[in-house]
Amino acid sequence: MNLVAPIAEVALPVALARPLYYSVPEHLAGRLRPGHRVRLPLRGRGTAGFVLSLRRPENLPPELATVSLKPIQGLDPEEVLVSPALLKLAAWMARYYVAPIGMVLETLVPRSVARPPRGAAPAIEVVPGAPVAAAVPRARETEVVPGAHWAGGTADAQGGAAPHPLVLNAAQEEAVARIVADLAARGGATFLLQGVTGSGKTEVYLRATDAALARGLGVLFLVPEIALGTQIVRWVRARFGDQVAEYHSQLKPGERRGAWWRARTGAARVVVGARSALFAPVGDLGLIVIDEEHEPSYKQAETPRYHGRDTALMRARIEGATVVLGSATPSLESRHNADRGKYQHVLLPERVDGRPRARVTLVDLRSGSIDGGGSGSAGGRGASGGIVDGARSSGGAAGSAGELPIVSAGDRDPTDPLTPYLAERLRQTLATGDQAILFLNRRGFSTSVQCRACGHVFECPRCSVTLTHHRTEKVLRCHYCNHTLRDLTTCPGCGGTDFAFSGFGTQRVEAALSRHLPQARVLRMDFDSTRKRGTMAAMVAAFEHGEAEILLGTQMVAKGFDFPRVTLVGVINADREMGLPDFRGQERAFQLLTQVAGRAGRGRKPGEVIFQTYLPDHHVIAAAGLQDFDRFYLRELEERRPLGYPPHRRLANVLFDGTDEAAVIRRAQAEADHLAGTAGLVLLGPAPMPLSRLKDQYRWHLTLIAQNARVLTEALHESVARGTGGQAGGPVRGQAGGRAPGQTGGRVPGQTGGRVRVQADVDPVSML
Ligand code: ADP
Ligand code: ZN
Repeated sequence: MNLVAPIAEVALPVALARPLYYSVPEHLAGRLRPGHRVRLPLRGRGTAGFVLSLRRPENLPPELATVSLKPIQGLDPEEVLVSPALLKLAAWMARYYVAPIGMVLETLVPRSVARPPRGAAPAIEVVPGAPVAAAVPRARETEVVPGAHWAGGTADAQGGAAPHPLVLNAAQEEAVARIVADLAARGGATFLLQGVTGSGKTEVYLRATDAALARGLGVLFLVPEIALGTQIVRWVRARFGDQVAEYHSQLKPGERRGAWWRARTGAARVVVGARSALFAPVGDLGLIVIDEEHEPSYKQAETPRYHGRDTALMRARIEGATVVLGSATPSLESRHNADRGKYQHVLLPERVDGRPRARVTLVDLRSGSIDGGGSGSAGGRGASGGIVDGARSSGGAAGSAGELPIVSAGDRDPTDPLTPYLAERLRQTLATGDQAILFLNRRGFSTSVQCRACGHVFECPRCSVTLTHHRTEKVLRCHYCNHTLRDLTTCPGCGGTDFAFSGFGTQRVEAALSRHLPQARVLRMDFDSTRKRGTMAAMVAAFEHGEAEILLGTQMVAKGFDFPRVTLVGVINADREMGLPDFRGQERAFQLLTQVAGRAGRGRKPGEVIFQTYLPDHHVIAAAGLQDFDRFYLRELEERRPLGYPPHRRLANVLFDGTDEAAVIRRAQAEADHLAGTAGLVLLGPAPMPLSRLKDQYRWHLTLIAQNARVLTEALHESVARGTGGQAGGPVRGQAGGRAPGQTGGRVPGQTGGRVRVQADVDPVSML
């Protein structure tokens, strides 16, 4: 076979749906491969692109047969960057997520890693068609050191408490055996490892990783964004040492590049990181672990809007790898797949060492005043209906009374986020030398500020949200665009100077703690307090070492931590996610509450969890309080059935945004008209999104529901192509809110600001 092919099909990192063709100059003939990054001339300037395929001139599209093609200028770098398997994955992503292939490839291999660092292993000869790492000598043979199985405990790589040998319990044994059997057979199965919090899932991941390495297979270990600063990453490092590369977007560019190339050369055989680590060039991939598979942070919010879990599953399918999806609270999609036999369902039903689950007590906030803690956000639900706020139901399916103890909030101060019961339990916990975690998924001090004289509410001028008062910095701030208002002395409406602050954020809880427990040392962990690199890890270490008694924070504190001295967990407002106008709101609430409840009582002493709630009878509160996944799952499945919400059917959003609201609406309506009557497709909307304006962009959406993914994909490609004048895609990389060339769909001639961006969001995790 003659490998010299004179024409290269190349994808550029811009919002072009179509690849371009270039001729292959003599000096590259025979050397150029699909997956090479190459330098190209484009409109008189140099640019870089990825080679998708090589072809003979007679296989070109007919309209190009007579055109004289420009030559590729050179390789950049010498090494092939994208393996054949990852090229396949990129093609699938481009199609499934309706994104330009060039932008997908730019996501797979970001510019910052594209060149080998100095001192990297020598360039690798790549045999076409062979997996990239096949020709690479292992940098280090995997050794299975006797006694190397250590519990994570609170030990860290830098030497904390001494690790102790660990004996798997029966459920862990069985889980490991099933996974290892599939690895050994290269069966390519997907396991849903559903284990209650504290059931020892991490140890199962680590043993499976061990087994893969022992067979010479590479491992991808994915954790949610939020878990990066936490213990699990350290445990992987402690166990597998220098075979591990950490790869994620929070690294400095140099570190990221180093990690990428350590994977590429085979020096690192385990790559651990957030979403984007799924693209790491690990050769001979045998195992992909996805911890907390239900986490919404696995979905990327910009083009390409891929889901990290689902894309990893596709990579595993292409490369024949085994997948372990782990969670205490699986997504409805994954659990449904397990029920349908698509995944193997593996259960860890008990906490390790027979430790009891934490006891949950509800504090009924309704007996207090209605001001304050966000009663407005409770109850009510998007289109799927079914949840009613308010009065205690008498019996009925929702009733949790009798199953979980309920305490009245009594004579509480409505401006105080801590009810007397919670404050008292905190005091007792600290008195016995234990630690506590407090959870409130809202940062800042108060979430709304209103002039008492004229009623003016401070809102963001660019977004359809109220500004949050940050007392520590003395500002009002928008949590979506960061718009900041410094002058809080007078009302812009009437000049008034008296303001009402309502709604709780973490800073307000912090202030309350210093009143109730002036001696307590409190760590506040939220977006504002962890912006500086390394601060989150430092806080975790400080809390671990007992330098504080209370860890207070947003969802950052809800997940993944294993602090054996925590015996009390308090949830300031358990209802917050429930009222979101999103069909996944209840799922999110259940997951968060279950996860946070799982933080208590992980050591020898049993734990207590307190949910402060206005909805003590709500079935989600009850299911989370009892840590009863099936109870939640079966009911939620039924509630989603009438409209065919996932997992029953497939769902996608077509997103329309622009600065001219009328143009946005026209474009959305036109698209609805186009798609109306498509066989197998149900349309909801068009409607404004719940966050109807962000950063000056008006936002509308059209929701598509279909029985099968193919109908959905085709409809989306048509919509996006119509919306962008023939090109699928989103904004050009690096240009916030910018538009791709040719993205002028919906523009009214002579009218500026009428441009509307049309994007697809397939399998959205947020409808907001
Ligand atoms: P999960 O991720 O399921 O919530 P973890 O993996 O964090 O649980 O495990 C909880 C704790 O139990 C950790 O400290 C871990 O080291 C410990 N552990 C795991 N397996 C065992 C075992 N078989 N025996 C004793 N301790 C264990
Ligand atoms: Zn804003």
